[in-house]
Amino acid sequence: SPGLYLVATPIGNLGDITLRAVETLRRAAVIACEDTRVTGGLLHHLGIKKRMIRYDDHAAEADRDRLLALMREEAVVLVSDAGTPLVSDPGYRLVRAAREAGIAVTSLPGASAAIVALTLSGLPNDRFLFAGFLPNKAKAREDALRELADVPATLVFYETAPRLLAALEAIGAVLPGRDVAVARELTKKFEECRTGPPADLAAHYTAHPPRGEIVLLIGPPVAEPPGAIDADALLRAALALHKP
Ligand code: SAM
Repeated sequence: SPGLYLVATPIGNLGDITLRAVETLRRAAVIACEDTRVTGGLLHHLGIKKRMIRYDDHAAEADRDRLLALMREEAVVLVSDAGTPLVSDPGYRLVRAAREAGIAVTSLPGASAAIVALTLSGLPNDRFLFAGFLPNKAKAREDALRELADVPATLVFYETAPRLLAALEAIGAVLPGRDVAVARELTKKFEECRTGPPADLAAHYTAHPPRGEIVLLIGPPVAEPPGAIDADALLRAALALHKP
């Protein structure tokens, strides 16, 4: 039926696509994508031939309107190059516009690198904060880390290989004592996940320059050990409160 369908695609291993995703791609009238060559490759692998339209959130209003008009009549699928659309990928403006226009929006779950990394890392995952990409410039990167320093949750970032060492150094400086995980090439042949103090990981990746795609995770702040609590001061404060 007509509407907008957000379809998650694999992040490396082509087997990681759902039956429903394949069926929806097969039934779609049009597939909106970031890069027609990348999506064309996936469709070819699935034996599907479809009209593709390039879309990103910087698209002109007129292009978005054309897609909205199509959605009123037919099934329009949005995919990104890999993983779940809208997660550090285009689509937010399109979904917003579709919802405002009263068009049905359906999201088909599937792979997302952040979740794969989180489950693989061994870091606490009862609470996590996905923070997208860290800024490129050193000062902005440190400011972003400082802003998140007290969040009582595992922090999840998307990263690129050329920037990994700079990010690890910034974490060591701004958030000392925190556990870090580097999850690389997830679901692919050379998948790896390393955990440890940022300095150890930096030493490893200096010796073995990383390649490929990376998710960087930082464990939550370590709770103060009981010995660090000043019991005398707490008691004095409590007694002071109860003074008549
Ligand atoms: N929408 C995608 C998702 O749901 O995972 C993310 C798109 S974002 C533009 C690309 C970033 O995702 C990469 O720089 C990397 O941080 C992460 N990523 C994607 N695939 C990955 C993989 N196979 N292994 C590790 N990280 C990956």
